[in-house]
Amino acid sequence: MFQGKHVNVTAVRRKNEEIVFYEVPRTTQRWLTPFKKIPFLRGVIGIVESSAKGSQHLNFSMEAYAEDETEEDAKNGKIVEKAPPKEEKKSGLSAGMIISVAVAGVLSFIAGKVLFTGVPAALEELLFSGLFESAVGHNLLEGLIKIILLLAYLYFISMTPLIKRLFQYHGAEHKVISAYEAGEELTIRNVQKYSRLHYRCGSSFMVFTIIVGVVIYSLPIFEWQGLWDRIIIRLALLPLVLGVSYEVLRLTNALREVPFLRFLGYPGLWLQLLTTKEPKDEQVAVSIASFNRMRELDQQMSKS
Ligand SMILES: [Zn+2]
Repeated sequence: MFQGKHVNVTAVRRKNEEIVFYEVPRTTQRWLTPFKKIPFLRGVIGIVESSAKGSQHLNFSMEAYAEDETEEDAKNGKIVEKAPPKEEKKSGLSAGMIISVAVAGVLSFIAGKVLFTGVPAALEELLFSGLFESAVGHNLLEGLIKIILLLAYLYFISMTPLIKRLFQYHGAEHKVISAYEAGEELTIRNVQKYSRLHYRCGSSFMVFTIIVGVVIYSLPIFEWQGLWDRIIIRLALLPLVLGVSYEVLRLTNALREVPFLRFLGYPGLWLQLLTTKEPKDEQVAVSIASFNRMRELDQQMSKS
């Protein structure tokens, strides 16, 4: 999926080789716009929005994939464009469905956050609480447990063929963006030269939330007494942690050309070694098609 100024586009290659596009105009909620300019707040809004949208687009890809699994008639290789954004696609996907998918996306995001906050805190308490006094030490161990759980989780899901494919497309998207930012013509060959890692990536964000969390939890005002206290404080601090992490991500992206500061973005890039895989040429082709479509629609919509 590529996010443009006015539209988000996902492309999927069907079994019959045609590439279909799923295009959703970006409808910004008017009343949200002023809040999106406020540092720290904009990160939280952006994360909730993109988890809703992301799951919508992911759902489209999964549906296309499931349909292909059931119907096995194959036509031959041409790129056909389907689904003009407004009329045809809307009839297939009711507003209700779109909303319920978006809500499911946000809910699973929240459930994931609660689990990912509670379990490491509980584990740390269980394993190390009696060993020493330092709150900072315990916070560091909690952060370490979180990183281990995250890596293990990503590693295991990336073994399934479906997620592996998803991660290959993720790598392809990064390559396309890097090639575009370098001013290259978007051909498969040019795009494949670029790294599958990119500074401005949502999965880097996950690492920063862990690191920023350790720092914020260690502020003396947030000292906890006992496990429940500890978990509740962390859940209450979640918006703050997300907001600060978003600003950190922006900062590392801004600093990526600065020789001695570019390493600040490295933890995020290391995580992408797991969340991206080397894409195949045909996957890069799909990504390029999606990106071009996004740009085309964006330009059309800017004019009108
Ligand atoms: Zn990414």
